[in-house]
Amino acid sequence: EGEAKTIESGKLIVATNAEFPPYEYHEGDKIVGIDMEIADAIASKLGVQIEIEDIAFDSVILEVTSGKADLGLAGITATEERKQSVDFSDSYTSSKQLIIVKDDSSIASGADLEGKTIGVQTGTTGDLMVGDIKDAKPERYAKGMDAVQALSQGKIDAVVIDSEVAKKFVEETSGLKVLDEAYAEENYAIAVQKGNKELLDAVNKALSELKADGTIDSIIAKYIKA
Ligand code: GLN
Repeated sequence: EGEAKTIESGKLIVATNAEFPPYEYHEGDKIVGIDMEIADAIASKLGVQIEIEDIAFDSVILEVTSGKADLGLAGITATEERKQSVDFSDSYTSSKQLIIVKDDSSIASGADLEGKTIGVQTGTTGDLMVGDIKDAKPERYAKGMDAVQALSQGKIDAVVIDSEVAKKFVEETSGLKVLDEAYAEENYAIAVQKGNKELLDAVNKALSELKADGTIDSIIAKYIKA
């Protein structure tokens, strides 16, 4: 009963972290990006308004768990661990983890990350991944771009972050490159409060229509040049 309110109330609160181009980022005083357009497209299918709540990435899942936000849409990888605390929609796109280094770095592959200081965004799958690298020291930043800036300034040796985000950050910062070798296949999905089947089903139905009619592909193509 309680759950049914979310759609009927006519408004969904979407928690995100708008520091993650091309998925969600600030442009002037607006928050734009792939996820934001997907949120809009889902909202119009469901006939509801959305309100974006821009918070730290590691709070997004909590906000959905507590019910303060209805959806978590933040390039969230649907991991088994997170499935303990939220339900995930069907996946809407995939990603990998990439390594960013300075142009003149001696780090040429993942094997070279051993013992290195590696910047990550707090609470991400990249953060977890670095935890598995022998003797590596993770440096956690609230924003991926802060990690990239620290790399640029020579404070850390590398950054591990989602593939398309890595490419955007490197485009925006001189003297850095992305290594070819990619890690982990990850699926992005929308987080919904555990057990809110009505909302989850509605989101999945909307997503499947938006995939079938090409909307998702064209939103992605707008932000990611093949
Ligand atoms: N996909 C990564 C994760 O889910 C990073 C997401 C992000 O930083 N917005 O942990």
